[in-house]
Amino acid sequence: MRIDIVTLFPGMVEPALAESMLGRARARGLVDIRVVNLRDYAEGRHRVTDDYQFGGGGGMVLKPEPLFAAVEALRTPGARVVLMDPRGRTLTQKVAAELAGETHVILLAGRYEGVDARVGEGLANDAVSIGDYVLTGGELPALVVTDAVTRLLPGVLGAEGAAARESFADGLLEPPQYTRPEAYRGVRVPAVLLSGDHARIARWRRVQAIWLTWRERPDLLATARLTPDERKLVERFERGETPEQLDDPAN
Ligand code: SAM
Repeated sequence: MRIDIVTLFPGMVEPALAESMLGRARARGLVDIRVVNLRDYAEGRHRVTDDYQFGGGGGMVLKPEPLFAAVEALRTPGARVVLMDPRGRTLTQKVAAELAGETHVILLAGRYEGVDARVGEGLANDAVSIGDYVLTGGELPALVVTDAVTRLLPGVLGAEGAAARESFADGLLEPPQYTRPEAYRGVRVPAVLLSGDHARIARWRRVQAIWLTWRERPDLLATARLTPDERKLVERFERGETPEQLDDPAN
């Protein structure tokens, strides 16, 4: 898969792409991520990329010409051109998985007061927001999308199945995780995790995931894939029961 990030501030983006999992995925050729300087596509001696907005109001707007020129130079057939935009559809694990299915994604990072509307209307075929807040530019959102997408690509995550149990993978939050030591500051790792009984561990994790999701993000339960028994479990939580009160805590 190829991801192009078009930005006025490549220096903000490149360091994050060089480290850790993203850096390794790139080095191993699992993803081809390119950082493209928007200014390279601006015309004139001063390579101007922004201008005042028509109709008044403070702040500058990114001009359409450099963005059109950049995308037209980069675009491969079928490429998904995504404008980073607080008004776009919200990034979720589902959106990340959808983008991970593409062969070429071009992420356009806006700046200043935003981007000339003709970019959204006639150039980008998608717009993504990373949440209901406004950042100074699209660089961090583009990195967030790149990270969320890259870790879903085949071979990027080390442990097989690690992504399958993660938060949002099946509409639930991830259950608690522990590592050594077994006891730390008076808190012991739940005994079931040390039992070696994989079926019980899987049950415990499932109950914890449902419990945590019910407590922290009940909105997710409406669409989570739950069995009828698991729906009954949610009803028990609603009546005030906790996982510890179930007959078998790994139940
Ligand atoms: N005036 C715009 C508005 O009210 O919607 C906000 C412009 S923002 C200061 C500049 C750029 O940052 C945007 O064009 C977009 O590319 C990016 N940006 C800011 N917040 C974002 C978010 N939550 N998700 C995605 N991109 C965002």
